[in-house]
Formats: sequence, C-alpha cells, structure tokens
Amino acid sequence: MEEGSESKLWNMVRKIFGSRCDAPLEEIILEAREEGELKNEEVLMLLNILRLHEKQAIEIMVPRTDLVCAEVINDTMRDVAMMIIESGHSRIPVYRENKDHMVGIIHAKDLLPFMLKDKDASISEIMRKPYFMPATKNVRQILFDFQNQKVHLGIVLDEYGGTSGIVTLEDVIEEIVGEIEDEYDVPRPQEIQVLQDGSFYISGRTHLDDLKNELGIEIVSDQVETVGGYVCHLAGRVPAKGEEFSDENFRYTVEEANTKNIQWLTLRYLLR
Ligand code: ADP
Repeated sequence: MEEGSESKLWNMVRKIFGSRCDAPLEEIILEAREEGELKNEEVLMLLNILRLHEKQAIEIMVPRTDLVCAEVINDTMRDVAMMIIESGHSRIPVYRENKDHMVGIIHAKDLLPFMLKDKDASISEIMRKPYFMPATKNVRQILFDFQNQKVHLGIVLDEYGGTSGIVTLEDVIEEIVGEIEDEYDVPRPQEIQVLQDGSFYISGRTHLDDLKNELGIEIVSDQVETVGGYVCHLAGRVPAKGEEFSDENFRYTVEEANTKNIQWLTLRYLLR
C-alpha cells in the first residue's frame, strides 16, 4: 500500500460509517475528492462501479455483425484455429445454421490438444455450453453472473430470442477502468474525436448516452440507440458517404458508410 494511503482509507471508512452514514455514497466520494483524499482516477473508478447497474448488456456488447464465430457442421477444427489466429480472439461462439442459434463456445485452450492429436474430430466435441443473457440485463448483474457461473463470455439475446451480440468480462471491466487493449487487440480509433474547428468526428456505433455523458450533447430518440442509427432514421435509409442531414440542433455529414450502416460521421452545431 502507498505511504499514507492506509490513513486515507481509514478516513474514508470513518466517513462512510461515521457521521455521514445517511449521505449517498456518490456524495461522499465526490466530497473526498474535493478534500484531496481521492485522486481523480480513483473517483472515476468508484463512480463507474456505483453506476454499473445503470448500464445494460446491449450498451456494451460487441454486435452480432462483428462476431467471429463458427458453424457447427461445416467448420472444422482447422477452420476454428484459423479464426483464432486471424482474429486474435481466444473464444469462438458456435452456431447451428445461422447466428440466431448459438449452440456453444470454443476456447483456444480446449482446441490445442485436439489440433495435435485429432484434427478431424467435430468441433461439437470441444464446445462448452453457451451462457445467454437478455439485452436488458444490467452490467452489475452480468459481473456477478460471470463470477458465479465461472464464464467470461455471454451471448446477448434480443427479445425474440435472436442473437444481438456478445459481452465478455473485458467489456465489463472496461466500464470501470476504461479501454483495455491486450497483446492481440487491433488498436481502435477513439469513438469520439474533437476536431480543431469545434466539430466532432464520431463512430456511427457511438451510443447516444455516451454522447451525452462525454460531450453533453443530447440527441433524444426512442427508436434508436446509436448516432449512426439516428442519422439512418433521419434519412429514412442508410445514406452514402458525403450525404448531409440536419435536425433542430446539429448537421451530420456521413464520412464513411457501407450498404448496411454508417461507420463514421461528423457532427456540427447548427449556427443560429
Ligand atoms: P479475447 O482476448 O479472446 O479477444 P476478451 O474477453 O479479452 O477476449 O475480449 C476482448 C474484446 O473482444 C471484447 O470487446 C470482446 O467482446 C471481443 N471479443 C471476444 N471474442 C470475440 C469474438 N469471438 N468475436 C468478436 N469479438 C470478440
């Protein structure tokens, strides 16, 4: 423990269980920062932990379009090994026929011995049971379930039982400590970048909630969750690169898009 941090801890404990036991924990944490008892990054982590239950699986998942997964009949051990090597992911969800019917998860560690002795075995022999969760499950509960069920990857289901995406332990921890990159992660550009002219370069998959939390920009929609989805909704279709749209407050320029979604866009305040 750092020098002096023990006494800091005691002060905190006294504060929490002492005279301020009626005050909300958030308030006590913010007060401790004001008094210099906690560093900014410590405050951020503590607040993130307290707010975990406000986030849902759907907000932190990797969407189904981005999943690296295998088909149980057609893909071989070798195919899965190639997926692991090329993607850098150590767990591969396995589906039957299409991604809406997930039937298992393959772990790289389970695959290795088979690659040495029985490459022709079916991948169903080494699959573990998938763990499913509804898209609305709150992130605090996901963390407890991962701990109790001893799993680190869950399949997120939509309300009709189809696959929405996956959440792993890393996705949950990132909600507490911020972005984590391991040795195999391809560096991802920042989802929200502030440009010199005061506009914002934003990934289409950025959640409207994150825009509000990070930039104070409030875009309200009960139809969509991401800024890319919002612009598609404004356009009534998936727009192409270079197209521009406005609502009451902002102008959106599509910077990168394919036939299915908007990948990047710029957002500017409208001059009044
Ligand atoms: P790994 O190191 O095997 O990629 P992590 O749990 O550290 O697994 O996850 C890192 C990130 O990669 C997380 O955002 C997670 O959701 C994502 N991820 C993990 N496995 C897959 C997969 N098979 N397909 C797509 N994304 C994945």
